[in-house]
Amino acid sequence: MSIHFQVLGQMGMDNALLVKLENYRKLERLLFDCGDRTLSDLPYSDLLGIDHLFFSHLHVDHVSGFDAYFRANFNRTSKENHIWGPPETARIMQHRFQGYMWNLAEQYGTVWQVHEVFPEHVHTYCFETAEGFRIAHDLGQVKHQGVILDQEQYQVRAITLDHQTPCLGFAVHERAKTRIDLSKLSDLGLRSGKWLELLKDFHFSEESIEVDGKQYSMAFLKEKLLMGHPRGGLAYLTDFLLTPEALGDLRGFLQHVDVLICEGQYLHEDLARARRNFHLTSRQAAQIALEAGIHKLVLMHVSKRYEAAQWQRLLSEAQEVFVNTAFPEHWAEMS
Ligand SMILES: [Zn+2]
Ligand SMILES: [Zn+2]
Repeated sequence: MSIHFQVLGQMGMDNALLVKLENYRKLERLLFDCGDRTLSDLPYSDLLGIDHLFFSHLHVDHVSGFDAYFRANFNRTSKENHIWGPPETARIMQHRFQGYMWNLAEQYGTVWQVHEVFPEHVHTYCFETAEGFRIAHDLGQVKHQGVILDQEQYQVRAITLDHQTPCLGFAVHERAKTRIDLSKLSDLGLRSGKWLELLKDFHFSEESIEVDGKQYSMAFLKEKLLMGHPRGGLAYLTDFLLTPEALGDLRGFLQHVDVLICEGQYLHEDLARARRNFHLTSRQAAQIALEAGIHKLVLMHVSKRYEAAQWQRLLSEAQEVFVNTAFPEHWAEMS
C-alpha cells in the first residue's frame, strides 16, 4: 500500500491535509480539517471520495470549509459518512447540519456518524438526513488504546493535545500488525489455541473474547500479542502548546512516523505570543521532528501576520534545528 499526502490551502491562509491510501484494489481518502477554501482546488471526485473527515478541533479556521464538503456529500449513500473530532464535535456538527432547510429530506437515506475522541474512549452519535438532523442518536462508547480507526489497510491513531481546548493530533500508517508473538503468551498466563486466529481476523468484530474461561478485551490482546511494525506513516499536528510533557508524549506517538505535517505558526521571536495562544513556533515544530526521529517535516498553518520574507525566515529557523524541513510544494510558486 502507498500513502500520499497533499497539504491544501495557501500560505498564510487556512490549511488542511488530504491523505490517499492506495493499493491495487482500493483507494481511500482521509481529510484532516477543512478551513476556508481548502477544498476549492480539489477535483470534485476527490471530494466525493473522502472516507473519513477528522477535525483536530473546532476553531473556525479548521471548520469553515465544511459547507463545501457537506454540499458534495449530504445525501451520499455510496460510502458511510464519518466525522471525527474532540469532545463537543457532535454538538457543533449538529448546528452545521441543521443550518439548512430539510423539508424535502424524508427521501434521503443518509446517515452521518460523528465520533468524539476522548483520551481513552470514542463516543459516537448518529444523525439522519431524513430527520433533518434533529436527533443526536447516542451510539455509546468504545474504549481505545490510541488506535481510533482500525481498517483493513491502515490505522489512525490520535493524541489529545492542549490548545486551551482539547486538540487532536493524528497519525496514519499501514496496518502491519499481523503476526502473533507467541513468546508473549506465557507473560499473560495464556495458552495458545484457536482464539489466536481471531486476533488476526480483521472481520471479527466482537469487543471481547473468552480465553480459558475468562473474558479479555480484543484491544488489550491485540496490543500485547500482535507484532510487526507499521511502515511509512505520517502524522498531522496543529494548534497546541508544547510543554515538556507534550514533547514526551509525542516522542512515543510519533514512533514509526516518517513524515510530520505540522503547524509552524510563529517566528521564534514571537515565542511568548505562541505560548499565550497555545500555538507552536516553527522552531518548536522542528524540535519535535528532531526528537522524534522523523524523516521529513512539512510546515503549514503559518500566521498571516507575517509577510513573504518573514515566512522564509519561519522556514530557515526550523531548518537550523531540523534540516529536512520544507513548505508544501505548491507554496513555492507563491513566495
Ligand atoms: Zn485553533
Ligand atoms: Zn488554527
